[in-house]
Amino acid sequence: MSKVVLVTGGSGLVGSAIKDFVENKGGKAEGEEWVFLSSKDGDLKDRPAVDAIFEKYKPTHVIHLAAKVGGLFANMKQKVEFYRENIAMNDNVMECSRIYKVEKLVSYLSTCIFPDKTTFPIDETMLHNGPPHSSNEGYAYAKRMVDTMNRAYKEEYGCNFTSIIPTNIYGPSDNFSIENGHVIPGLIHKCFIAKRDGTPFTIWGSGTPLRQFMYSLDLAELTVWVMREYHSADPIIISVDEEAEVSIKDVALAVVKAMKFEGEVVFDTDKADGQFKKTASNAKLRGMRPDFQFVGIEEGLQKAVDWFVANYETCRK
Ligand code: NDP
Repeated sequence: MSKVVLVTGGSGLVGSAIKDFVENKGGKAEGEEWVFLSSKDGDLKDRPAVDAIFEKYKPTHVIHLAAKVGGLFANMKQKVEFYRENIAMNDNVMECSRIYKVEKLVSYLSTCIFPDKTTFPIDETMLHNGPPHSSNEGYAYAKRMVDTMNRAYKEEYGCNFTSIIPTNIYGPSDNFSIENGHVIPGLIHKCFIAKRDGTPFTIWGSGTPLRQFMYSLDLAELTVWVMREYHSADPIIISVDEEAEVSIKDVALAVVKAMKFEGEVVFDTDKADGQFKKTASNAKLRGMRPDFQFVGIEEGLQKAVDWFVANYETCRK
């Protein structure tokens, strides 16, 4: 084997999609060995544990997905933990990637770490142009430092480190918690319960906010492409096109269709809507991958719903 690709956070939403792409969808290139880690393989906050992982696998490439992630309320209540745990994991993975001479490190940022006050569409150059929303500043500043350090490692040590900024992701192996999960897995779980119990399907907020949603398998394929073909320290936004932005209402109705739910659908407008839109530009990606076909939202939601129904007993919820 000439290449060993180590994926941290390999058991999560994105990690499972990369595993599926590599193991079942022809994504593995000749001479590559892929290793998918979960927290059971070692706590990435713990430097000796990370050293032991790098010593054991001797990776030539690292895709760093592992993070402390959570919903709005967890982020607001635990800014210290979101900052410190992410900083520790990222620092350990980056420093070990330097020491063990990793040829390429791809880390993950998020569009929710961009400045709160901004113009749209957001692009890669705007990441540090103002403070993030105060609700998630612990998480946001820890993630922003990855971008800063990617450039610093390149300047000082010539490391080939970069980062991906994805928009909203959904798919199999997501966290389907209604309280703590993201919007799509939360809607899928609620619609499932409404169908099972014969109760109304209640959507929080007016349903008018717009978002760009990406099926996790598309992101998996593009992440592997970034690892092989994208060689700049500056981040790249991976997202569906601006024209593919959809309202939460359209997503909820597509979930209803995919779940074959025939009961009442209610919009609880007493609940907050969040930001109306957070449009991101994928012009940089399109400049390099003009023909990449993203899975449509209805097709992707059908796959996510089918996976959730089939794995209801054991999935994260
Ligand atoms: P998940 O929450 O689905 O998975 C998190 C992964 O990180 C799991 O494999 C978990 O292991 C691992 N992990 C967490 N803490 C530790 C630790 N201390 N040591 C070792 N491993 C740990 O995350 P996603 O797949 O959703 O996210 C992947 C990346 O994408 C993250 O960096 C996230 O910030 C980013 N992102 C995600 C978005 C989304 O919509 N989901 C949007 C934008 C960015 P275990 O299973 O054992 O707990």
